[in-house]
Amino acid sequence: MTGTPKPSVSVAPALRVIPRDVHGISRKQMSRSALKVLYHLREAGFSAYLVGGAVRDLLVGRAPKDFDIATDATPEQVKSIFRNCRLIGRRFRLAHVVFGREIIEVATFRASSVNDDEEEGRQVLDSGRLVRDNVYGSIEEDAVRRDFTANALYYSIADFGVHDYVGGFDDVQARTLRLIGEPEARYREDPVRMLRAARLAAKLDFSIEPATAAPIPRLASLLADAAPARLFEEAMKLFLAGHARASFEQLEALGLLPELLPETAQALASNKSGALRRMLLQGLRNTDARVAAGEPVSPAFLFAVLLWPAYCRALAQLQAQGIQAVEAQRRAADRVTLKQVARTALPRRFSLPMQEIWLLQPRFALRQRKRVSRLLSHPRFRAAFDFLELRLTASTSHAEDVAYWRDAQVTAPTDGVAAKHQGPGDDSDDGMERGAAR
Ligand code: ATP
Ligand code: MG
Repeated sequence: MTGTPKPSVSVAPALRVIPRDVHGISRKQMSRSALKVLYHLREAGFSAYLVGGAVRDLLVGRAPKDFDIATDATPEQVKSIFRNCRLIGRRFRLAHVVFGREIIEVATFRASSVNDDEEEGRQVLDSGRLVRDNVYGSIEEDAVRRDFTANALYYSIADFGVHDYVGGFDDVQARTLRLIGEPEARYREDPVRMLRAARLAAKLDFSIEPATAAPIPRLASLLADAAPARLFEEAMKLFLAGHARASFEQLEALGLLPELLPETAQALASNKSGALRRMLLQGLRNTDARVAAGEPVSPAFLFAVLLWPAYCRALAQLQAQGIQAVEAQRRAADRVTLKQVARTALPRRFSLPMQEIWLLQPRFALRQRKRVSRLLSHPRFRAAFDFLELRLTASTSHAEDVAYWRDAQVTAPTDGVAAKHQGPGDDSDDGMERGAAR
């Protein structure tokens, strides 16, 4: 999809060093493994910086998810310094330094590249040397090829200062997300940056600088060319990292929802009462609450929530064509799944339980003794019941079902595992069996 990348920032940026007493980041807040890597690189005569999300997160007082390092050492040189090191990646090689369960990613400064994705980037060149000559660069080049100014700050192990080439420090202080370079060109280079803008604004509670936000609705359709597997990864980060509701609202505001969840966006637009949107937002709030409480969340339940409006719409259409209920449900589930998979490559291990959650919903209306015990012992019962409860946000017509099944879990004698359960809030199941809701 890509031609020769045009550099979006051509002037050599000026360096500003923010000293320790101004930025306030202390080494105590950093991973000990990351510090070891920084020190060893420096002792070996290389420059070494903590970079990216970690510096940004430390500046706003959040605990970083991971600690990435940038250096002028080549991957091979990094490997020669650390015994516990392996090189990964073909187009752009990265060093992973392994400390037990922690992996510190060490990247050599690189010149502007189209995007960060192995598969999608510029064409793989067959000569290793050529790749090296074209890809690695100076720290200035490394800074300006990053997406947002807040993501392009370098904490130096040599002087403990934060090195800023793009005005990122002031932007972080102002809680502003600003693209480096000319926004439209940067989105055209890599449309996923639009989703990253929505996600990071939601996660950090930053506002998106007007010139960075402005082109997004107009360019949103460029996401059609992004790799579905990458969009799935991005969806996981948008919705399973504790800021799902804020992410969803950002996606809506920026006109990105029709690109990421096309069928749901359509269904929400035609649901005049707003009931489906209310339910979806409640499901996302519940997901955020579970993440905040350290409880497991499942992609299957999440996508059941995200695609429920699409499923309801497809079901109504099929039934209007005279297709009988059970068959219509199955077909609606398949149709919605198929269309979504083309956009975000939802793996089957998630789409199958997602469909089960939907297809079990009508069974809550059936109360014969045998059916009750069978449903109670269904492996997906708990997630399906959580979903039934969530549906109360949109409609109370099945309130009685919810009460009945809440009761049934405590009283009904069954031989299945789900019977010896568990009041709401019990968390002994694994994340896949349970809903993200509650
Ligand atoms: P998170 O805290 O969610 O991990 P992050 O900013 O660290 O956020 P990563 O995906 O881990 O995001 O990327 C690490 C760094 O790589 C970013 O901070 C940014 O500097 C750079 N980067 C990532 N994706 C892109 C992109 N699409 N275009 C340019 N730079 C990118
Ligand atoms: Mg990161």
